Amino acid sequence: MEIAYKEAKSILTPQQHGFLAAGPYPFTHALSAYTGCGFGQTTCGLYCYAQFLPNWSMSGFAAPWGLAVQVKTNAPDLLEKKLRNMTAAKRRQLRIFMSSTTDPYQPIERTQLVTRRCLEVFARYPNLDLLVVQTRSPLAERDLPLLRQIPYAWLSVTIETDDQQHLKSLKGGPPLEKRWELARTASEQGIPTQITVSPCLPYTDLVAFGTRLLNSGAQRLIIDTVVDGDGAEGERTARSPFARTSEDWAATTHAHQLYAYLQERAAGTIVIGWSNPGFCGIPPRFSQESGAPLLQTVQHLC
Ligand code: SF4
Repeated sequence: MEIAYKEAKSILTPQQHGFLAAGPYPFTHALSAYTGCGFGQTTCGLYCYAQFLPNWSMSGFAAPWGLAVQVKTNAPDLLEKKLRNMTAAKRRQLRIFMSSTTDPYQPIERTQLVTRRCLEVFARYPNLDLLVVQTRSPLAERDLPLLRQIPYAWLSVTIETDDQQHLKSLKGGPPLEKRWELARTASEQGIPTQITVSPCLPYTDLVAFGTRLLNSGAQRLIIDTVVDGDGAEGERTARSPFARTSEDWAATTHAHQLYAYLQERAAGTIVIGWSNPGFCGIPPRFSQESGAPLLQTVQHLC
């Protein structure tokens, strides 16, 4: 793995267009503490759209996606400065997705601690609207005590199938059992937890996977496909190594069946979401007009 260290110029990237800026409750910013991703040589690297974005192609690495990472060493300092210089009213509008172009808990985070130090900053500012920490890495368990201190934080765990053998037959990835465990532990510790089946890969059995998701402890379950969720109706994925690896890469029937199954059986406070409306479906904590706290209600999105 090639590693480079860089002082970034900014750390909160405004979201004005694209996936995160759409939907019922869009994100205002994305935060990536790294450029490149250490999971890029696993299954998700086959379809990961971040490898096509300018921040990677212009990063100066000659190494393939997944074999080089740039560490934004000053990310926590930039974040602290940005939040400190905002008015409380501006901070209340912040809805941050961490991260859209890297995994905040990729292997290098174990020693670099940039994500951890960013969370320490967030913990000093209790009145943002939303922080979603999106990961497929069991390493996130290390920082659950910190996430508990951030009243607006959600942990979002990617579990794209329940079929470890299928995952292995592609290019592997963090063990699925450890990811289930992460979601369970986080929810037991009172951290708002979401599972994203994104993109939904072939699974063992509809009832077995669906039941496990419903009993996982997660309060939100989001189903997505590479056709619906790559931001280009599948066109980006068509150019990806995934399309060359999997003949039926564009099939979405199994994802729709899972979504329908979950919708039919979800009870109580579990929200079932689909693709963009699901990802961007966490209601605000504050009124954007008056800044007053809003009553949180459970929404079933379709
Ligand atoms: S973890 Fe996310 S950012 Fe990293 S390679 Fe996989 S899909 Fe891309």
